[in-house]
Amino acid sequence: MRTTTLPSGETVPVLGQGTWGMGEAPARRQAEIEALRAGLDLGMTLIDTAEMYGDGAAEELVGEALAGRRDECFVVTKVYPHNASRSGTIAACERSLRRLGTDRIDLYLLHWRGQVPLAETVAAFEALVRDGKIRHWGVSNFDVADMEQLHKAPGGAAAATNQVLYNLTRRGIEYDLLPWCARKGLPLMAYSPLEQNRLLDDGGLAHVAARHKATPAQVALAWVLRHERLIAIPKAGSAAHVRDNRLALDLRLDDEDLAVLDRAFSPPSRKMPLEML
Ligand code: NDP
Repeated sequence: MRTTTLPSGETVPVLGQGTWGMGEAPARRQAEIEALRAGLDLGMTLIDTAEMYGDGAAEELVGEALAGRRDECFVVTKVYPHNASRSGTIAACERSLRRLGTDRIDLYLLHWRGQVPLAETVAAFEALVRDGKIRHWGVSNFDVADMEQLHKAPGGAAAATNQVLYNLTRRGIEYDLLPWCARKGLPLMAYSPLEQNRLLDDGGLAHVAARHKATPAQVALAWVLRHERLIAIPKAGSAAHVRDNRLALDLRLDDEDLAVLDRAFSPPSRKMPLEML
């Protein structure tokens, strides 16, 4: 598995697994657990979840999937902005730990920016690191101006990542946020890399997929993963989709592929406000 390096020096796989929407339908539960475990077997050991997903149901499902395998996995979860006060962050973290059935979270993210001053949330994250409850912390849905303010807050420059929307149809970050993070040596995590399944029937994508005898999902993921410091976290509810996604790492897009995709999905030529789902 290809890896990238967090600012701490620790390496993580560039292809992980999302969990939004998992744990919400009893009929799908077993397939979802099998999908996450198949991903672990294939080296997709970074699992992304949040207290928000299914109101804790996704974290519980991740806990079940990780039973007996916790040490193989790099667990990412997120705190709601309205919980991100000094005491609220710590209480939310305790609840997430219980649902995940673990004693530590590998990466704890502020889900998006809210009303609580950044310095207060950072102080709570630092306390959780000191107590061994979380190993790294970061943010999500932060645009360049937010990152600059975060870096000015006490301790704020220690953020390990920023998790943002990025896929062929959402290229705004290429204009400024991606270069900003590259200059700081900060890896980005791309969420909804398949645009929640809405981009997979595009003609340009199909053309490139056919050239490589690959699937559209593999091309969409390989396109995100062409950036060295980017981590993609597709959500797949079946082991078959997980296996399909894993093969994206074997796919090398050439200049002709990238030109076709640029024509189908144009790159930004000016600042676009960061989009979120
Ligand atoms: P994705 O772009 O990952 O798309 C998920 C959809 O794609 C599902 O319908 C899935 O179907 C389908 N899919 C997956 N693999 C394949 C495949 N090989 N072929 C065809 N279809 C496929 O959307 P998400 O929004 O779920 O994003 C991924 C993760 O990012 C989330 O689950 C979550 O962890 C995180 N996220 C973070 C946000 C934030 O604010 N920080 C916001 C949104 C997402 P099926 O389930 O049937 O396999």
